[in-house]
Amino acid sequence: MTEDQTPQADGFADLGLRPELLRALTGLGYEEPTPIQREAIPPLMAGRDLLGQAATGTGKTAAFALPILERVHPGVGGGAPEPVALVLVPTRELAVQVSEAIYKYGRELKAEVLPIYGGQPIGRQLQVLKRGVHVVVATPGRAIDHINRGTLPLDAVELVVLDEADEMLDMGFADEIEAILQATPDNRQTVLFSATMPPRINNIAKRHLTDPVRIEIGRASTEPGEAPLVRQSAYLVARSHKAAALGRILDVEAPAAAIVFCRTRNEVDDLTETLNGRGYRSEALHGGMDQEQRDRVMGRLRSGTADLLVATDVAARGLDVEHLTHVVNYDVPSAAEAYVHRIGRVGRAGREGVAITLAEPRERRLLANIERLTRQKLTIEKVPTVADLRARQMELTIDQVREALQADDLDRFRVVIDALADEFELTDIALATVKLVHQASGATDDDEEIPDIPVRNDRDRPQRGTDHSGSYKGGDRGGSSGPRSKPERGGPGGQSQARRGPQGDVSRLYVGVGRGDKVRPQDLVGAIAGETRLSGGDIGAIRIFDRFALVEIPTDAVEDVIEAMRNTTIRGKKAAIRRDRDDA
Ligand code: ADP
Ligand code: MG
Repeated sequence: MTEDQTPQADGFADLGLRPELLRALTGLGYEEPTPIQREAIPPLMAGRDLLGQAATGTGKTAAFALPILERVHPGVGGGAPEPVALVLVPTRELAVQVSEAIYKYGRELKAEVLPIYGGQPIGRQLQVLKRGVHVVVATPGRAIDHINRGTLPLDAVELVVLDEADEMLDMGFADEIEAILQATPDNRQTVLFSATMPPRINNIAKRHLTDPVRIEIGRASTEPGEAPLVRQSAYLVARSHKAAALGRILDVEAPAAAIVFCRTRNEVDDLTETLNGRGYRSEALHGGMDQEQRDRVMGRLRSGTADLLVATDVAARGLDVEHLTHVVNYDVPSAAEAYVHRIGRVGRAGREGVAITLAEPRERRLLANIERLTRQKLTIEKVPTVADLRARQMELTIDQVREALQADDLDRFRVVIDALADEFELTDIALATVKLVHQASGATDDDEEIPDIPVRNDRDRPQRGTDHSGSYKGGDRGGSSGPRSKPERGGPGGQSQARRGPQGDVSRLYVGVGRGDKVRPQDLVGAIAGETRLSGGDIGAIRIFDRFALVEIPTDAVEDVIEAMRNTTIRGKKAAIRRDRDDA
């Protein structure tokens, strides 16, 4: 999957998508398909079954949504439409997110998309189903409810998608999935996407997919790129704080010239505006601009009239800027190869370069792919705090003043000092002067604290299984003498332990082991604290029932904990772990 070097802004058109979809994609600012889209869309449009392995953030939704929308023909046939596609997803959040994405892609087609999931009153769903929809996106449990009630018509279903299939299995939905597949027409097309391919997934594929096309994205199929020697760091930032975090990081890094890569045109435009608001001279570069506009932008960057270029991959392809010091990935590129291309723009000819990547916590797997391809470690750093920023700005001011002191043209400013010297102390005059310098250098008043997403610090740990059996039997850890054990509060066996507990928003996790498995609170604390970046003190109330347990943890850690615990056993049992369904 080497990226080709010629601009290919109409890459989606080459896939043969209908014009309504192409216009929607242009409207969203997508410039070209991601690798999984490029590989999956043609066979899916041709009616093939498909088995795809790709990490989060690679663009899987559009990979199945666009072929689905090729089959939607609103208005044809009259009467209430019946669903032509059923997408199964593990959680209600994903049901909503995927529905929204399909709706956006299909906006011009007026495709009706309905998310159905537990927790939402079933009445509303019944009403909409009755009126008729083209695509249903459901969690397996609620889909089964509807199938049993006879309220989800499946006869017209041509395509079933299992999105994040491994996740669904981990959550204990195997039987539901089986039953749903049984209930759909035999001649349907079946698509299965999963970030991992454990044997259980292969089994489902073997039984329910017919001669599937297999796609694997993210495993380096090419030789590792000649990654230049640059300092590579990544920051974990929640989506809502990304723009603020980037501003902060750039202020601290103070790049001489940087290029910031975004996924879409719209993102390029928004971010350019934000950065300009922060005092950067930034310029947008994307495929929607004509050659003349692009040349002008490049000219400004080369001449130093602009500090930052905000660009999409397509627009920046082949672009060579002499004095670039920083490459920033505002999103983790959806293909590790793209990362190599991007950072290839700095650190040339022995000069020092810096590559910065902003990742949402759920994109961590993509970072691992990149590390594998580049065979270099990405250091995960903390977003600078307000205090860090202030300290850095002072440093920059000190540098500026020092530089001015070394110049020999100071004499002509002596009149200013002479005019003030009778009235004020020299130190005070100096302070006032420094303040002016400081303000003039554009030090932004930025006092928003950006929540830190602490990092699981297990990246250097040996593979599980070499240092540990991989299972947490309370006994091993009961003594808490191992170097990795974190302080656990409360005595062993205590059901209600005095913990500091999580600060801020708290969510409840369902863990599929309970009293029947002899699980005690400290087993859960030990497993979570050992596998994730949480410590015992971050874990809140634990309730243990016969067959499962509920554990409170900080909301912002939920995805990471689920991900980290996926392959762990607790007291020798592999436990399903997921957000508690009743956790609003
Ligand atoms: P996945 O399901 O693999 O985790 P998503 O489908 O959720 O990935 O896509 C991740 C992000 O990438 C979304 O914000 C989506 O809008 C964006 N995206 C998807 N395809 C493209 C594309 N071809 N160009 C630009 N952005 C894209
Ligand atoms: Mg997805």
